[in-house]
Amino acid sequence: ICVLRDITARYGDVTVIDRLNLAIPEGAFVTLLGPSGCGKSTTLRMIGGFETPAAGQVLLAGKDVTHVAPNHRDTNLVFQDYALFPHMTVAENIAFGLKRKGAPRDVIRQRVDELMQLVRLPDMAQRLPAMLSGGQRQRVALARALARDPALLLLDEPLGALDAKLREEMQHELKSLQRATGKAFVFVTHDQEEALTMSDVVVVMNKGRIEQQGAPVELYRDPQSRFVASFIGKSN
Ligand code: ATP
Ligand code: MG
Repeated sequence: ICVLRDITARYGDVTVIDRLNLAIPEGAFVTLLGPSGCGKSTTLRMIGGFETPAAGQVLLAGKDVTHVAPNHRDTNLVFQDYALFPHMTVAENIAFGLKRKGAPRDVIRQRVDELMQLVRLPDMAQRLPAMLSGGQRQRVALARALARDPALLLLDEPLGALDAKLREEMQHELKSLQRATGKAFVFVTHDQEEALTMSDVVVVMNKGRIEQQGAPVELYRDPQSRFVASFIGKSN
């Protein structure tokens, strides 16, 4: 569904992504895994259109979208801090993108109901984000990102702010949400255990490059570099 072709990203004269090639299969759960500063968020932002690569191309469903704005791409990004609108209710937050697109009011209301059921947010339509728990805020952010029905959902460490128990619960929820919607998810984490348990494909990044990518068992059994071996094996 998405292909990154020889992508390079620079800040000033520092190259943070170096000729990266990556293919994201339709309907797959793909995880970018790597240490802080290796370029995971930058890669995600380029897929979502929040950043333009210095060189290379982003293809979505076969089309070159390298210079297409985020709201005109078939992608949506969930930020680590959720970035909900604090003055809007849960329902208004979820409806935001649809309203901006000019969808009719009854269509919006039905879609919001549907999304609230999908992410299991019972009876909270009229609450403000400040009145929600971390896990509930996460669900609102997910519902809002799914509202436009993107083919590809980008998740930048969406569970990073949650405590261990809630985190585990949300791992299961995210996984079943991905299965239920059939969308491709690109998920970012620096937690190797999370990456291995959730993903169809894990992409191990280091210093702006891909060290290795493959199914969790492949990486675990057959690491191609010392970096991958030590990063994947860290918890064992
Ligand atoms: P983390 O796990 O800490 O979120 P990351 O893998 O997401 O890290 P990026 O945010 O993609 O890493 O950053 C990659 C590199 O680019 C880092 O060295 C970072 O310092 C640098 N960088 C990111 N954003 C900017 C910016 N706006 N200006 C300058 N340098 C930046
Ligand atoms: Mg990051």
